[in-house]
Amino acid sequence: MKKEPGGSVSQKEIEPKLKKGGFSSLLELAINVPSAYIDTRLSQKIAVGEIHTLEGEVISSSKAAGRLKALFSSPISSKPIEITVFNPKPFHYALFKPGMRHFLQAKVERFGGKLQMVNPKTLSKVGEIVPKYRSKLRQDIHRKLVASLLSLESLAAEGLDEKRAGLILRAHFPDSRWLELYRKHGGLGPKTLEALKFAEALDYFKRMGGKRRYFKALEPLCGDPSDFIKRLPFELTEDQKRAIEVIRKDLARDRAARRMVVGDVGSGKTMVILAAAMVAYPKRSILMAPTSILARQLYEEAKKWLPEYMRIALVTQSKEIGDIKSANFIIGTHALLYRELPKAPLVMVDEQHRFGTEQRKLLERLVSRAPTSQPPHPTPHTPHPNPQPPHPTPQKPHYIQFSATPIPRTQAMIESALVDVTLIESTPFVKDITTTIIGKKDFSKLKEHILKETKEGRQVLVVYPLVEESEHIEYRSIEESEEFWKRNFDGVFVTHGKDKRKDEVLQEFAKKGKILLATTVIEVGISLPKLSTIVIVGAERMGLATLHQLRGRVSRTGLKGYCFLFTHQVKSERLSAFAKSKNGFEIARLDLKFRKAGDLLEGSVQSGKSFLWLDMAEDESIVAEAKEAALKEAPKF
Ligand code: ADP
Ligand code: MG
Repeated sequence: MKKEPGGSVSQKEIEPKLKKGGFSSLLELAINVPSAYIDTRLSQKIAVGEIHTLEGEVISSSKAAGRLKALFSSPISSKPIEITVFNPKPFHYALFKPGMRHFLQAKVERFGGKLQMVNPKTLSKVGEIVPKYRSKLRQDIHRKLVASLLSLESLAAEGLDEKRAGLILRAHFPDSRWLELYRKHGGLGPKTLEALKFAEALDYFKRMGGKRRYFKALEPLCGDPSDFIKRLPFELTEDQKRAIEVIRKDLARDRAARRMVVGDVGSGKTMVILAAAMVAYPKRSILMAPTSILARQLYEEAKKWLPEYMRIALVTQSKEIGDIKSANFIIGTHALLYRELPKAPLVMVDEQHRFGTEQRKLLERLVSRAPTSQPPHPTPHTPHPNPQPPHPTPQKPHYIQFSATPIPRTQAMIESALVDVTLIESTPFVKDITTTIIGKKDFSKLKEHILKETKEGRQVLVVYPLVEESEHIEYRSIEESEEFWKRNFDGVFVTHGKDKRKDEVLQEFAKKGKILLATTVIEVGISLPKLSTIVIVGAERMGLATLHQLRGRVSRTGLKGYCFLFTHQVKSERLSAFAKSKNGFEIARLDLKFRKAGDLLEGSVQSGKSFLWLDMAEDESIVAEAKEAALKEAPKF
């Protein structure tokens, strides 16, 4: 094979070969290490109970009760070894004629004082360790591909360090010592596993880096948020400051920003949104929210905190405040998507996780549609000083999304291959919520607690897995329990996701209710400041992320909160881990960890990307290092 001056095989020659094996990169070929090894080296001494490869001669053979018996002498055994072949075929008799010499492979066992091999394999060639691959190619072709492409140099050319490359190569081309360790560990050693994880992450980032597209910004934005920050009655958290600083740098570039800011409910994302609008000022920004209630709330907050010189408009289906043509900051719902909008070099989306797939597509269109106030071509009579290249990079607004669905850090890094990600992990106040796991026998204590809370004017939410009775679920439904609650308490309200009167019921409950029975699907759009307690029935059936969202509904206003997880599995490790943690990011990690452990849960596993070696719940530092390494090689804009 031709080698390039650098010593590596040329890229052009490699690609078609890899493709044939179904691999899209050299690293992918490398991380597909053998699933087993066939060892045909001759044994040096006999160890009972282990597989041996022996060279020797057949001394005698006989047939008895459908079996072939033979005696086989080997230089490493003082006594001959007894061979038994069950259901022998005619060729077996030919093979085991006295005087024949063979290489035999089988487990050597002791049987009544004699050494025995049952149904041994005869080998034509010995003295090798042959790797066995899971491959769509024939084994020998796959092995040739590996031998011709994988080397320290070729892996170094992919950005893999020598140490890790060496570890991976040894798994493909093992020597005796290595195989011994492999058997001792019962598989690959921890260092090799680490190298494989790293190579897999590196491969991922390199490939994604190639897919990510960069656009020119409509214009760089260099406004100053300090007028706004100064006026706040509180100090921003470190994470808020960090997010604002990152966004400032993003917006100042002439590359269009694509960033996702992820922070738990209550982590103060609104302040970051408002600061970003200040950085865009005097240029226009657009902010979109999933519901009119939220859009309205954001509008109120913007009005309250931003300096008066900022002109703010609100656009929802039913309401419009201010003039969007002259506004610096337009806040609205998806109603915005159907309007003719003035040019805005910054587009933001709040609560991104609550938009549906269709709406996300529309959003994508909003940020990619041609700016209205900029002619696509220079007019003929005003010759452009710098003629544009034939295919100029399209210009797009800066785009920042905000999400309140914490994802494990590692997953955030994985996703950051396509979009920049910032995490806001701290919250300005830590809510004081006590989480307790309870079973049937604790019900009377729960009743007492609820009586006490409601007597003091606080409210309780009881979440049921179902509206109607079901044979498949060993918990009561709302319908089955309603009677009980109404008999024991007053001020009981009932609603669920399909309830047409849901909004009215909620409004009424907020005013005078004590206990609300509902299902998980219910979106509590209105704030319930007196809600101090949530009881989640059948908690073990839910993902930790869902439990975290539900728990986040109590103690919104600093009230002492209580969360009761009612379950038939009071010993659940998963639930007790949840009860101990309040951090959404930690909970997302735990969720992933327990999902992997195979706990039965509602819903599907998030994130389609699956890895051969990487573990999203554990491998944070490996992924971080690989990302760093991939960035060194990535094309810069
Ligand atoms: P999120 O949108 O991330 O769920 P919000 O932006 O609505 O959270 O903030 C939650 C509450 O915390 C709001 O009442 C907000 O005014 C307040 N807040 C935000 N940042 C701070 C801070 N640094 N210190 C004190 N309170 C804050
Ligand atoms: Mg918010």
